[in-house]
Amino acid sequence: MPFEKADRLKRLPPYLFADIDKKKREVAARGVDMIGLGIGDPDRPTPAFIIKELARAAKDPQNHRYPDYEGLLEFREAAAGFMKKRFGAALDPKTEVIALIGSKEGIAHFPLAFVNPGDLAIVTDPCYPVPATAVSFAGGEVYRTPMSAKSKWLPELKKIPEDIARRAKAIFLAYPSNPTGATATREFCEELVAWAKKYNTIVATDCAYSEIYYDEDDKPLSIFEIPGAKDVAIEFHSLSKTFNMTGWRIGWAAGNAGLVAGLGQVKTNVDSGAFNAIQYAGIAGLTSDLKSVEKMRRVYKKRRNTVAKALREMGIKFLKPKAGFFIWASVPEGYTSAGLVSKLLDTGVVVTPGSGFGACGEGYFRIALTVEVERLQEAMDRVKKALGK
Ligand SMILES: *Cc1c(COP(=O)(O)O)cnc(C)c1O
Repeated sequence: MPFEKADRLKRLPPYLFADIDKKKREVAARGVDMIGLGIGDPDRPTPAFIIKELARAAKDPQNHRYPDYEGLLEFREAAAGFMKKRFGAALDPKTEVIALIGSKEGIAHFPLAFVNPGDLAIVTDPCYPVPATAVSFAGGEVYRTPMSAKSKWLPELKKIPEDIARRAKAIFLAYPSNPTGATATREFCEELVAWAKKYNTIVATDCAYSEIYYDEDDKPLSIFEIPGAKDVAIEFHSLSKTFNMTGWRIGWAAGNAGLVAGLGQVKTNVDSGAFNAIQYAGIAGLTSDLKSVEKMRRVYKKRRNTVAKALREMGIKFLKPKAGFFIWASVPEGYTSAGLVSKLLDTGVVVTPGSGFGACGEGYFRIALTVEVERLQEAMDRVKKALGK
């Protein structure tokens, strides 16, 4: 019996990658050697000491029972300790930190706590798709504020219309950015906090890539490095990219106690928290000497430089990222985002069309640095050939 889907699913924009997925399957079926630079999923394994801690904790029957809703206090203390050491941010682990089943889970549930049907939330264009979908699921209206290379892929807060700013219940931002690789400056973060206070708007920031930076001088900021941010902000953090743990599903949210409590209240009614053994493994990562992250930064830097060099040789413009593991590049003359992606697919190179992240992403494509240098070089050689460069 065909059951009618709920309006919230029918309201979702059409799945943009359906054609690309189909073509990918066709090319793979032809036996072409595929190089996947499409999905941002770390290729290297989780550090061994973290796996070892999982194994230890998994054997402890104490951990086989329901976890605490808000996460182990030790996990929240480790997260708060990490934020203190890394960002100088003081957060109370008891009231200002909550464990998440991956940061995506927290971002997806957050609007249920604070967005009423008809409320408005601001999301950037381009953007990681989760915030807009989550606001829409809560019945909220999404206003997409355009970004461009000219504004260094930061939203121009002054250009947000006054009536939109007044109505906005929340603004969602992610820096270092997926997809653009842009990072937020201190001036921008200060302007953002002042803007949010003026309009009484919640600031929800996504810091998933904060530890994947390329130079010590370019360490990404937390919003909580800005004085007064805790009055308006909640920030989502993840172990996924920092410790190659995307499959484990562990992260946290930190910030304004009221915002954290609201998210917690939704979660109490939806899930029963993250497996304690995974939280203990997360503690091992967060309280470690962080040498494993240092090593990953060097790996990604070599990969970034390999792609940057090849793109320069081809005359393709791109934003050289200071953080994150994506390269956001302009499609050459004569192509659309989808057209270029399709052309590269024929050679077995999978990249993501910028248009998948919003209308402002048209004219761009995203390269994920999640394969080894040799494969990246091979991919770039194929791109060169395909484009006749
Ligand atoms: C990968 C990623 C995350 C991390 O999600 P988890 O659910 O913690 O794995 C969050 N935000 C963005 C923008 C990402 O690209």
